[in-house]
Amino acid sequence: MDILKHISEAGVVGAGGAGFPTHVKLKAKADIVLANGAECEPLLRVDRMMMENNAELIIAGLEAAVAVTGAAKGVVCLKKKYKAAIHRMEEAIAGKQNLEIFLMDNYYPAGDEQQIVFDVTGKVVPTGGLPIDVGAVVSNVSTLMNIAQSLTGIPVTHKYLTVTGEVKKPVTLAAPIGLPMIKLIELAGVSGNLEDYAVIVGGPMMGYVENNLFAPVTKTTGGLILLKKDHPHIVRKTSSLEKDIIMARAVCCQCNYCTMMCPRNVLGLKVEPNKAMRAFAFNGKGIDYQNGIFSCCNCGICSYYACNFNLKPNAVMTALKEQLLKSGIKPEKKVAQPPASNADLIRTPVSRLIQRLNLEKYDVDAPLAEYKITADTVNIPLKMHIGAPATPVVQAGQHVRAGEKIASMAEGKLGAEIHASIDGTIKEITAAAITIQA
Ligand code: SF4
Ligand code: SF4
Repeated sequence: MDILKHISEAGVVGAGGAGFPTHVKLKAKADIVLANGAECEPLLRVDRMMMENNAELIIAGLEAAVAVTGAAKGVVCLKKKYKAAIHRMEEAIAGKQNLEIFLMDNYYPAGDEQQIVFDVTGKVVPTGGLPIDVGAVVSNVSTLMNIAQSLTGIPVTHKYLTVTGEVKKPVTLAAPIGLPMIKLIELAGVSGNLEDYAVIVGGPMMGYVENNLFAPVTKTTGGLILLKKDHPHIVRKTSSLEKDIIMARAVCCQCNYCTMMCPRNVLGLKVEPNKAMRAFAFNGKGIDYQNGIFSCCNCGICSYYACNFNLKPNAVMTALKEQLLKSGIKPEKKVAQPPASNADLIRTPVSRLIQRLNLEKYDVDAPLAEYKITADTVNIPLKMHIGAPATPVVQAGQHVRAGEKIASMAEGKLGAEIHASIDGTIKEITAAAITIQA
C-alpha cells in the first residue's frame, strides 16, 4: 500500500499545530515517531478523549507512521495523570514490540513538540530546525487517527475540539469542517447575551481571541473557550502592541524572570525575552543573540506566568521576529548552549498556571459528545494548512457528497486536499472558501 498517497489524498494535516501537510512530514526517514497526546493547554480535553475512545485507531496511525518513516520505534507520549487513557493505550500496544509509552508530568508546555522530543530523547531541536533534524517525527494523536482512517479511504471532514469556559455543558465533539463556531457555542449552551462574551480559539495560552463567531471550524481548531469580555485573561490577550510597548518601557524592571522561566531558553536556545523587552522599548539595542528570537514558540509563559507586572514579552518577541524576517534575516540552524542542568525542575505546573489565568472554575471535564452534529451550511476555507491555498475542483450549483474532494493542492506546491464535510450543493466559491448548503 502506498501509505503517503493515501494520507495525501485524504487531506491529512497536523491537527494539533499549524496544519503542516502530513504526507510531506512523513516523507522523511526518522529514528523515532512520537505520538503527541500530552495536550498541555489548560482546559482542552481533545487528546485525552481521543486516547480513551479511539486508542486502536491512534495506534494504527502510529504503526503506519513508523512503517513509512522507517523508524525503529513509536512512542505514545501522554501525561501520568491520564489514568484511563494510559490504560487504553497500554491495551492497544500490547504485543507490539516496536511501540512503547512515555509518561510525562503535568506541566506546560509538555505538548510543545520540541519539549516532547527533549523529554523522550534528550536531544534539542536547533533554532530554525525541525524534530527531524534530530531524527524524530512528532504527530498529534488526532492526526494519527486521521492517518489510520486515510488508509481505508476516509478523508478528513471533521475536527474534534473542546468547547468550554462559560458554557452550560463543556463538551468535546466532532465538528464538520466549515461549521460556524457559533453553532458549537450554542450547542454547549450560553446564559445571557452572547455579545458579552469573547471566544478564544485554541488553548488559553497559545490561542487567539476571535471576534467573528461565524468564523469556520478548520482542520486545526483545537478548542473554543468562551469567557466574559471583561475576564482578566481576555483583557490581557487583547491589549494592543502600542500599549505593550509603553508598558515595556515604563514598567519592565529587567528582573529576568521571563527568561529564566522560558522553556525554550531552558533547552539551551538562548531565548531571552527580558532583553527583547529592553530592545523593543529602546530602539532595538540590547539583544546580543538575535537568533534566539526565532526559537520563541509564543507559548506565553513569559507573559501569563512569569512576569509579575502583567507585561507581555511574548507579544514583543513575536513583533521582533516579524521585524527580523521582514528585513531578510533568517534563523541560523544551531543550538546556542547546553540545556540547563536542572531543566526538569524549571517547569510550570498546569494547576498553578490555571490559577494565574483565573480559570480554575472552568477546569472541568468536557466529555465526548454522543450526538452527531448536523449543519445547514458550511464555509470551508481553501487554506487550513501550511503552504498554498487549494484550488477548487467543483463548480457553483454542483451537488457533492460528504467526503468528496472539492479542492486540490496546487500543482507542485506544498498543500493539502480538501473535502466536503456535508452532503449538499455548492453555493459559492471565492478565493478564500467554498460554501456548501445542505
Ligand atoms: S519578567 Fe516582566 S519585569 Fe521581569 S524582565 Fe521579564 S518582562 Fe521585565
Ligand atoms: S513566549 Fe515567552 S516563554 Fe514562550 S518561548 Fe517565547 S519568549 Fe519563551
